[in-house]
Amino acid sequence: MEHYSSQITRLIEELSRLPGIGAKSAQRLAFHIINMPVEQVERLSLAITDAKKNVRYCETCFTLTDDAVCPICKDLRRDHKIIMVVENSRDLAAYEKTGKYEGVYHVLHGAISPMLGIGPNDIKLKELMQRLQGDVKEVIVATNSSLEGETTAMYISKLIKPTKIKVSRIASGVPVGGDLEYIDEVTLLRALEGRVEL
Ligand code: ZN
Repeated sequence: MEHYSSQITRLIEELSRLPGIGAKSAQRLAFHIINMPVEQVERLSLAITDAKKNVRYCETCFTLTDDAVCPICKDLRRDHKIIMVVENSRDLAAYEKTGKYEGVYHVLHGAISPMLGIGPNDIKLKELMQRLQGDVKEVIVATNSSLEGETTAMYISKLIKPTKIKVSRIASGVPVGGDLEYIDEVTLLRALEGRVEL
């Protein structure tokens, strides 16, 4: 990329580090940014740094939020005795979009994967178990139906069984390996309503 100025090369390099952005897309984006009005570029870079600086994990459910406690955990109209366990904040957003789930969440930030060397201590499982010492009636395990998601669901159910708290798993019908965020709301609702006790 010697034929570009060093600053354009730097921008292309930084953009190409983003997931899903290959060398060609990075070049296209870099030139698009150069042609954008400077105010728009400033808004974009400010949005990136502000989000990075201010977004953190909710103290209770570990979803990404601007506050110490997220709006869902703060909402007293929701049923705090039902906790849905999801792999990430995107999955939480997918269930929230259905508008039909009234419980709260717990975000694991990953799934157990022996192949990738991700063990139970690498995700927010300890934190889930701590929450269960409170008044909890049901834990709905809504991890993906991938191998990692199923492994995690089994592990969670074994951990929770001795506590006598009801553990259920969302119904299959969610495509295997399918990321929850890409599944339509009707399918998600059906999976939630058809959940089975583990
Ligand atoms: Zn929360």
